[in-house]
Amino acid sequence: MKNSHMKWSWIFMVLFLTLSIIDFRFGILGFICMGAPIYHALRGRGKIHCAKYCPRGSLLARFLEGISLGKTMPKFMKTKKFKNALLIFMLSVFSLGMYHTGGDPAKIAFTMFRFMTSSLIVGIIMGVLFKPRSWCAVCPMGYGTVLIDKQMKKKNPKVVFNTK
Ligand code: SF4
Repeated sequence: MKNSHMKWSWIFMVLFLTLSIIDFRFGILGFICMGAPIYHALRGRGKIHCAKYCPRGSLLARFLEGISLGKTMPKFMKTKKFKNALLIFMLSVFSLGMYHTGGDPAKIAFTMFRFMTSSLIVGIIMGVLFKPRSWCAVCPMGYGTVLIDKQMKKKNPKVVFNTK
Protein backbone atom coordinates (compact mmCIF):
# COMPACT_ATOMS: atom_id res chain seq x y z
CA MET A 1 0.00 0.00 0.00
CA LYS A 2 2.44 2.60 -1.21
CA ASN A 3 -0.33 5.00 -2.03
CA SER A 4 -1.43 7.27 0.79
CA HIS A 5 -5.20 6.94 0.10
CA MET A 6 -5.11 3.17 0.51
CA LYS A 7 -3.41 3.61 3.86
CA TRP A 8 -6.42 5.27 5.36
CA SER A 9 -9.44 4.75 3.09
CA TRP A 10 -10.48 1.71 5.22
CA ILE A 11 -11.88 4.35 7.60
CA PHE A 12 -14.78 4.85 5.16
CA MET A 13 -15.66 1.18 5.31
CA VAL A 14 -15.60 1.16 9.12
CA LEU A 15 -17.66 4.36 9.13
CA PHE A 16 -20.13 2.84 6.68
CA LEU A 17 -20.54 -0.30 8.79
CA THR A 18 -20.85 1.63 12.06
CA LEU A 19 -23.41 4.10 10.71
CA SER A 20 -25.41 1.33 9.04
CA ILE A 21 -25.51 -0.73 12.23
CA ILE A 22 -26.74 2.33 14.15
CA ASP A 23 -29.27 3.14 11.42
CA PHE A 24 -29.48 0.81 8.46
CA ARG A 25 -30.69 3.67 6.23
CA PHE A 26 -27.02 4.68 5.97
CA GLY A 27 -26.71 1.49 3.92
CA ILE A 28 -27.72 3.64 0.96
CA LEU A 29 -24.12 4.94 0.99
CA GLY A 30 -23.10 1.54 -0.33
CA PHE A 31 -24.10 2.79 -3.78
CA ILE A 32 -21.08 5.10 -3.67
CA CYS A 33 -18.80 2.17 -2.93
CA MET A 34 -20.30 0.13 -5.76
CA GLY A 35 -20.52 3.03 -8.19
CA ALA A 36 -17.03 4.47 -7.71
CA PRO A 37 -15.04 1.76 -9.56
CA ILE A 38 -17.57 1.78 -12.42
CA TYR A 39 -17.46 5.59 -12.61
CA HIS A 40 -13.66 5.62 -12.83
CA ALA A 41 -13.63 2.85 -15.43
CA LEU A 42 -16.20 4.67 -17.56
CA ARG A 43 -14.05 7.80 -17.36
CA GLY A 44 -11.20 5.78 -18.85
CA ARG A 45 -9.24 5.46 -15.62
CA GLY A 46 -9.16 1.65 -15.59
CA LYS A 47 -8.68 0.07 -12.17
CA ILE A 48 -7.55 3.26 -10.48
CA HIS A 49 -10.22 2.82 -7.79
CA CYS A 50 -8.83 -0.60 -6.84
CA ALA A 51 -5.26 0.65 -6.87
CA LYS A 52 -5.70 3.92 -5.03
CA TYR A 53 -9.01 4.41 -3.24
CA CYS A 54 -11.10 1.33 -2.46
CA PRO A 55 -12.06 1.31 1.26
CA ARG A 56 -12.76 -2.43 1.15
CA GLY A 57 -9.41 -3.32 -0.38
CA SER A 58 -7.75 -0.98 2.09
CA LEU A 59 -9.53 -2.59 5.06
CA LEU A 60 -8.63 -6.13 3.96
CA ALA A 61 -4.97 -5.20 3.53
CA ARG A 62 -4.79 -3.19 6.74
CA PHE A 63 -6.41 -5.64 9.15
CA LEU A 64 -5.69 -9.07 7.72
CA GLU A 65 -1.98 -8.64 7.14
CA GLY A 66 -1.06 -10.04 10.55
CA ILE A 67 -3.61 -12.85 10.77
CA SER A 68 -3.76 -14.13 7.21
CA LEU A 69 -2.69 -17.75 6.78
CA GLY A 70 -1.38 -16.74 3.35
CA LYS A 71 -2.34 -20.01 1.65
CA THR A 72 -2.38 -20.17 -2.13
CA MET A 73 -5.76 -19.55 -3.67
CA PRO A 74 -7.16 -22.53 -5.60
CA LYS A 75 -6.47 -22.17 -9.31
CA PHE A 76 -10.12 -22.45 -10.31
CA MET A 77 -10.84 -19.23 -8.45
CA LYS A 78 -8.53 -17.32 -10.74
CA THR A 79 -10.20 -18.52 -13.92
CA LYS A 80 -12.46 -16.36 -16.08
CA LYS A 81 -15.23 -18.93 -15.71
CA PHE A 82 -15.26 -18.55 -11.95
CA LYS A 83 -15.09 -14.74 -12.10
CA ASN A 84 -17.89 -14.61 -14.67
CA ALA A 85 -20.01 -16.99 -12.59
CA LEU A 86 -19.44 -14.94 -9.44
CA LEU A 87 -20.21 -11.70 -11.27
CA ILE A 88 -23.49 -13.12 -12.63
CA PHE A 89 -24.37 -14.62 -9.24
CA MET A 90 -23.73 -11.39 -7.36
CA LEU A 91 -25.59 -9.29 -9.93
CA SER A 92 -28.55 -11.67 -9.75
CA VAL A 93 -28.62 -11.64 -5.94
CA PHE A 94 -28.36 -7.85 -5.95
CA SER A 95 -31.03 -7.34 -8.63
CA LEU A 96 -33.41 -9.79 -6.98
CA GLY A 97 -32.85 -8.12 -3.61
CA MET A 98 -33.54 -4.70 -5.12
CA TYR A 99 -36.62 -6.00 -6.90
CA HIS A 100 -38.06 -7.26 -3.63
CA THR A 101 -37.67 -3.84 -2.00
CA GLY A 102 -40.55 -2.63 -4.16
CA GLY A 103 -38.77 0.73 -4.42
CA ASP A 104 -39.00 1.43 -0.67
CA PRO A 105 -35.91 3.58 0.19
CA ALA A 106 -35.49 2.01 3.66
CA LYS A 107 -35.59 -1.50 2.21
CA ILE A 108 -33.19 -0.48 -0.57
CA ALA A 109 -30.76 0.82 2.07
CA PHE A 110 -31.06 -2.38 4.12
CA THR A 111 -30.61 -4.58 1.05
CA MET A 112 -27.51 -2.63 0.09
CA PHE A 113 -26.12 -2.90 3.63
CA ARG A 114 -26.77 -6.66 3.67
CA PHE A 115 -25.14 -7.07 0.26
CA MET A 116 -22.08 -5.04 1.22
CA THR A 117 -21.69 -6.79 4.56
CA SER A 118 -22.07 -10.32 3.24
CA SER A 119 -19.52 -9.73 0.48
CA LEU A 120 -17.16 -8.19 3.03
CA ILE A 121 -17.51 -11.27 5.26
CA VAL A 122 -16.65 -13.51 2.30
CA GLY A 123 -13.70 -11.18 1.57
CA ILE A 124 -12.51 -11.46 5.18
CA ILE A 125 -12.78 -15.26 5.18
CA MET A 126 -10.81 -15.39 1.92
CA GLY A 127 -8.30 -12.91 3.30
CA VAL A 128 -7.74 -15.03 6.41
CA LEU A 129 -7.36 -18.28 4.46
CA PHE A 130 -5.39 -16.90 1.52
CA LYS A 131 -3.57 -13.57 1.03
CA PRO A 132 -5.22 -10.54 2.71
CA ARG A 133 -6.56 -9.07 -0.53
CA SER A 134 -7.51 -12.36 -2.21
CA TRP A 135 -11.06 -11.10 -2.53
CA CYS A 136 -9.74 -8.53 -5.01
CA ALA A 137 -8.78 -11.37 -7.37
CA VAL A 138 -12.45 -12.37 -7.74
CA CYS A 139 -14.34 -9.23 -6.67
CA PRO A 140 -17.20 -8.63 -9.12
CA MET A 141 -16.71 -4.86 -8.93
CA GLY A 142 -13.01 -5.12 -9.70
CA TYR A 143 -13.65 -7.68 -12.42
CA GLY A 144 -16.49 -5.60 -13.85
CA THR A 145 -14.11 -2.65 -13.96
CA VAL A 146 -11.63 -4.69 -16.00
CA LEU A 147 -14.37 -5.66 -18.45
CA ILE A 148 -15.48 -2.04 -18.85
CA ASP A 149 -11.89 -0.93 -19.26
CA LYS A 150 -11.33 -3.48 -22.04
CA GLN A 151 -14.42 -2.25 -23.87
CA MET A 152 -13.30 1.38 -23.50
CA LYS A 153 -9.90 0.56 -24.96
CA LYS A 154 -11.50 -1.37 -27.83
CA LYS A 155 -13.75 1.55 -28.65
CA ASN A 156 -11.01 4.16 -28.36
CA PRO A 157 -7.76 2.35 -29.23
CA LYS A 158 -5.90 5.59 -29.90
CA VAL A 159 -6.77 7.28 -26.63
CA VAL A 160 -4.16 7.05 -23.88
CA PHE A 161 -6.16 6.46 -20.73
CA ASN A 162 -5.06 8.08 -17.52
CA THR A 163 -4.76 5.41 -14.85
CA LYS A 164 -2.29 7.25 -12.62
S1 SF4 B 1 -11.18 -5.57 -6.49
FE1 SF4 B 1 -13.07 -4.96 -5.38
S2 SF4 B 1 -12.52 -4.93 -3.21
FE2 SF4 B 1 -10.63 -5.04 -4.37
S3 SF4 B 1 -9.96 -2.95 -4.55
FE3 SF4 B 1 -11.19 -3.38 -6.38
S4 SF4 B 1 -13.30 -2.82 -5.92
FE4 SF4 B 1 -12.15 -2.89 -4.01
